[in-house]
Amino acid sequence: MNIHEYQGKSILESFGVAIQRGKVVDRLEDAENAAKELSSETGTEWFVIKAQIHAGGRGKGACIETGSHGVVLAKGLDKVEEVVKGILGNTLITLQTGDDGKKVNKVLIAEDVYYPGDTEPEEYYMSVLLDRTTGRNTIMYSTEGGMDIETVAHDTPHLIHKEEIDPKVGLQGFQMRKIAFNLGLSGDAFKNMCKFVNSLYNAYVGSDSSMFEINPVLKTSDAKIIAVDAKVTLDANGLFRHKPYLELRDKSEEDPIEVEADEAGLNYVKLDGNVGCMVNGAGLAMATMDIIKLSGGEPANFLDVGGTADAERVETAFKIILKDPSVKAILVNIFGGIVRCDRVAQGIVDAYKNMGSIPVPLIVRLQGTNAVEAKALIDASGLEVTSVVLLQEAADAVKAVVA
Ligand code: GDP
Ligand code: MN
Repeated sequence: MNIHEYQGKSILESFGVAIQRGKVVDRLEDAENAAKELSSETGTEWFVIKAQIHAGGRGKGACIETGSHGVVLAKGLDKVEEVVKGILGNTLITLQTGDDGKKVNKVLIAEDVYYPGDTEPEEYYMSVLLDRTTGRNTIMYSTEGGMDIETVAHDTPHLIHKEEIDPKVGLQGFQMRKIAFNLGLSGDAFKNMCKFVNSLYNAYVGSDSSMFEINPVLKTSDAKIIAVDAKVTLDANGLFRHKPYLELRDKSEEDPIEVEADEAGLNYVKLDGNVGCMVNGAGLAMATMDIIKLSGGEPANFLDVGGTADAERVETAFKIILKDPSVKAILVNIFGGIVRCDRVAQGIVDAYKNMGSIPVPLIVRLQGTNAVEAKALIDASGLEVTSVVLLQEAADAVKAVVA
């Protein structure tokens, strides 16, 4: 589950990570007061206004309506409202939003932390994530912060360092010092970086996250080390241990069809192809997507209807698949292990009749317990359904309609 920058920062803060502080508002009228409060809490006189959307690249992105960037400095309390106005309620396009952009429903009014001092502020990159190849939590970091890390990885891969954490002993002191050293730090900044890395890692583990990306981590002109940005993905499978984090979900940032499927208890992920799939079990769903590709089609979605493929669930699944206008055919591939195929077949027939019609060719493959009875039931229904038994027949039928 992805969350907003301001929410990620508040998790970081709860684990003792130093952050760029701020106040979030969703109404222009509240902006000035929020900035005033922030001023009295932090002493800041300059502010940075940051669009809160689930996408990065906001600093370089621009709003369609106003041309304003998604991260803008306001040099004084009297500038805050004007800057907020340029961002809040508008549609921000960044390299990560796609061409339609994302509506900005909230902005973070943060303290300016790039103030002048003894040294220049410096930006680093740091993330904690699970490296699935080694099966270990890994800290990735670089002196090249503030910019697109993919570009750094492509052009200057030697500037990205990795520190693997042994799960038996956890993050060790020498590793924190090695990171601070490789970032070229000394004195207070070195000590502050060690503390930063330690608490960042605690936040990642303690919140059951699958990613924490802080870009930039800032060394302020007075040697503080703070998180200026926070891109956080909480592991949805760990959320049951962190009930308060459930509140952090912002459905307006998610694909509306995926939200609806989720509410119906269906495991649905939209893809770019033209063949809709309805399958029970994630493994069979993957195999079905493979067979669609092999037959020259492209899956339009991943959809696991789960164990109880009754008429109601099947109908909801059909409706969700059909919301995607690129769907040109639907392949239902269900294995009757515990669930009997004839039950599922009845579900399909009932759902079909209930919906009146299904505007694209429907290919149904039911295999397993009572598969023969299921095929007979569908054939006898008089509905426009291509009923097949073998996977190869299913592939051929898909090919016939989409190729
Ligand atoms: P992103 O573009 O979505 O990754 O958003 P960030 O939170 O990383 O902000 C983008 C850029 O804005 C940063 O890399 C900084 O250069 C700049 N920025 C962020 N906070 C401040 C601040 O307090 N003062 C100044 N002057 N610039 C800031
Ligand atoms: Mn950033």
